Parts: sequence; structure tokens; C-alpha cells
Amino acid sequence: MRPSTLASIACLALPLLGCGDDKVDFFQPVTKDPGFPGTAGDPDAYQSLFRYTPNPSCAPDVIRKLERRTEIRIFRGYGITPDMTARFVAGLKRYYDYYGVTMYTRHDVIEVPLDHAMVMNSSAISDWMSKNTNVSPNCLAGYGSVDCERAMGGAMFYNVKQFLSTYAEPAQDLINVVLLKRVVALDPDDDDSELAWGVAGLGFSEDLLNSVGGSDIGTTSLADIMDESNFSPTVFISVNLTDFLLKEPDVVIAHEFGHAYGLEHDQWDEGNLMYPTVNRCDQSLDSSQLSTIEQATAKYGNSLLATHDDPLAFLSFEDRAGEILDIVRQRVAQVGAR
Ligand SMILES: [Zn+2]
Repeated sequence: MRPSTLASIACLALPLLGCGDDKVDFFQPVTKDPGFPGTAGDPDAYQSLFRYTPNPSCAPDVIRKLERRTEIRIFRGYGITPDMTARFVAGLKRYYDYYGVTMYTRHDVIEVPLDHAMVMNSSAISDWMSKNTNVSPNCLAGYGSVDCERAMGGAMFYNVKQFLSTYAEPAQDLINVVLLKRVVALDPDDDDSELAWGVAGLGFSEDLLNSVGGSDIGTTSLADIMDESNFSPTVFISVNLTDFLLKEPDVVIAHEFGHAYGLEHDQWDEGNLMYPTVNRCDQSLDSSQLSTIEQATAKYGNSLLATHDDPLAFLSFEDRAGEILDIVRQRVAQVGAR
């Protein structure tokens, strides 16, 4: 029996000893690496990061090729090796090369002290709200005030906000890629575990105008809950889950980039890259999606569209943001009421 199994049995048997929550480092501050922002180098010097072996069996349908480039900046969290990083970044390039969008970087990979991007443990969120804000977690019963919702967002998205304020603000014409072991922290509430494990990617951008879930979820917008502005689009990828799901990471990271370029989900075509779940390795982009990417990449000198006054979008599952926030809201209110 592995030690982790033993530990979880002990936790089940002895809940009053407090094992469980305190073992997960939920809220992880991010301080700036001395190498950031650094001097931009020659993209050729970083080409080895993007080297891939062609995989013709996963080639998407290509209606037309764009002649575009996109600059990215690459970050890796705890437990993500340089090899894993290169494999994911190469998968991103392999996918978009089919469509004539060239990915490049002018900087070294930066390590970030993160295990995950978001927290779905209601006790941890409740505790954080009590210690760090002026509002009581009870305020989440029903829909809370903006201050109340923002306090919850401050906990749920603590790591995301730490990353954005340290590395993504003010916005630049590039996309940040943050490779982490997982998107949602270990130890979510029991009945959320399936939801939490199913999150392969999470993207934040100010570009995706009037997105399905970003602008109107309950009484408070996600923009209000996140309370961040003027940042570069940033994509968080769960390396563990992606590797569990797929032989190659290409479509997961390419899907998140689709959101970063402003694409919403395509709910109907299972063969489309923007279908909400991954089921094939050759999911494709259609003609109108290619036009969107063409515009997004052209507007700022072949790099990314970055406007600052638009609503935030919950990219990887914008159609589920309302659902997830509702669940967490109710749970935290219950914890607060105890
Ligand atoms: Zn998505």
C-alpha cells in the first residue's frame, strides 16, 4: 500500500485530527523572478523549445493558412520539468503551424512557485475570506454584494491574481502560457472532485467580448469578481490531466489559445477545436474562426489583440463559470454559517 493511501485512510478515520486541508498549500504568493522582464533575445535562440516531430495522423483539416506570428512567454510551476515544458510548447507550435500561425518567444522559461491556479475547497475559501477581508463568508448566501463576491474571488483565484499582477500587468502584445501540475488545487469539496479534475485548462483574457459566461453570471460579473485589468491574455494548463487524456497535448493547449485569440466554444461540431471537450487529436478550425485569429494577430503588429476595457472571460469553460461559482458560493456560505 502506498503511503498516500494510508494517509487518506487515516484522515477518514480521524477527521478531528485535522489532516486534509492543512496539507494542501492552497494560497501561493508569486514574487517576481529577477530575470523578469529581462532583455528580449533573438527568437532563433529559443527555437529548440519548439522543436517537434510531425504527427500526420493528428493533422487537422486546413481550409486556409494565415501568415501570422504570435509571441508567447512561458512559465512552469512546481513539478513541471524542462522536458514537459518543451513537449507542451512544441505541441502548441505543431498545431498552429498547420494554419500558418508561428509561435515564438524571446525569453527563457521562468519558474513560478505554483502547484495550481484555483481553489475549490470551501473551508479554505471561507477561512481566507475571514482572515483577509472585511466581509463574512455568510454574505455568500444567495448572491452577495460586489465586495462579498470579490472576497470569494480573491480566495478562489488567489494564485491566478498573484500571477497576473506579477507577470501579466500591464498588458503586452503577447500571450502567457503557465504550465502547472493541475488547474484546480487538490482537496476540492468531495462532490466537486469530478468537476475539479476535469479542468484541463483555464484562460483569462480581456479580449473575448461579451463572452457567454464572462459578462453575466448571476448578479456580479466575472470581471468584478476577478478585479484585475490591463493584463496580457494568460493561459493555465493542467499538464497532469492533459497527459492523462491524450498522447499529445496539442489540442488542449491549442484550444486555450483559441480562447486567448477571442474564440468562444463551438457546442455543435465535435470535430472543431473549440468544442468544449477534447475527443480527437485532429480537431480543426473553421473559416470564421481563422478570420478571428487573423484579425487578432494582425491588429498589433502580428501579435495579440489587447484592449483594456472589455469584460473578462473565463476561457476554458466560459459556459460553466456561472455553475462553478454558484456551487462554491453556496458551499462557502454553508461553511461560514457553521
Ligand atoms: Zn474552452
